[in-house]
Amino acid sequence: MAAEYPCAFTGHTPLAALACIRDATTMNELADSHVHLDDPRFDPDRDSLIRDARRHGICEQIVPATRRRDWPRVEQLARQSGIHAAYGLHPLFLANHCPEDIAALQAWLLERPGQAVAVGEIGLDFHAPDSDRETQQWYFRQQLQLAAQLELPVIVHARKAMDEVIAQLRRQPGLRGVIHAFAGSRQQADQLLGLGFHLGIGGTVSYPRAQRLRGIVQSMPVERILLETDAPDQPVAGYQGQRNLPVRLLNVLQSVADLRCTSTTALARQTLDNTCSLFRLPVRPGVEAPSPFTAD
Ligand SMILES: [Zn+2]
Repeated sequence: MAAEYPCAFTGHTPLAALACIRDATTMNELADSHVHLDDPRFDPDRDSLIRDARRHGICEQIVPATRRRDWPRVEQLARQSGIHAAYGLHPLFLANHCPEDIAALQAWLLERPGQAVAVGEIGLDFHAPDSDRETQQWYFRQQLQLAAQLELPVIVHARKAMDEVIAQLRRQPGLRGVIHAFAGSRQQADQLLGLGFHLGIGGTVSYPRAQRLRGIVQSMPVERILLETDAPDQPVAGYQGQRNLPVRLLNVLQSVADLRCTSTTALARQTLDNTCSLFRLPVRPGVEAPSPFTAD
């Protein structure tokens, strides 16, 4: 049994945390619901980073592809045990997409029954003032429809476009999925939870200034939390400006556990179950079957 940690939120004995994370979580099994292992920034040391993640208990990793040309690379990676592929067309790469990619995505998914765990990464990103919102909306809508048709969950990127994302999701009732790296308001969180969606919680939660997000993470239903790194992006506190690493999921785990005054062991277990349920991951030997997914 790993030790219960003092609660950082209530101010009891803040932990000299990072040095302890390694020991406390060695025996935990946990899931990274969003990690771009195919990113070229991992080319020099990908295998050793994956091994390091496994050594630290990160037993499941979801890798969402962002462009058609990356699908084969992600498929290749997902041949390794514990790595699962999602395929999609990301809103930030409009210049790489063409409308025929939607039919190609459908064919790709149909040719690989049971291999893709989700449609993603898809979504809307209105951060850039010159973003082509209409074209983004078109690709997003097409891919939501495809996910509904194939009964796959979606992995959604939403930046400066949360209300538009929610409006699109409402038009596809029954769709399941996750809003990755959630950074919206409490009201938006409530709407997404009401739609049955999960919220992906990443490195941002480790920054004390992320008050709004930390408040939501404290009080939202634990069954709807997925942990993620988004590595090599979104470094955790203390590592700003550096390449984010798969193993830093442990820092996210610790931050969320502190905020919720729970143990890393319990939270690792619960969020692993949440990830396995949403993406219908095969049950691993020695691991209990996750509780069935409930949409309400
Ligand atoms: Zn991503």
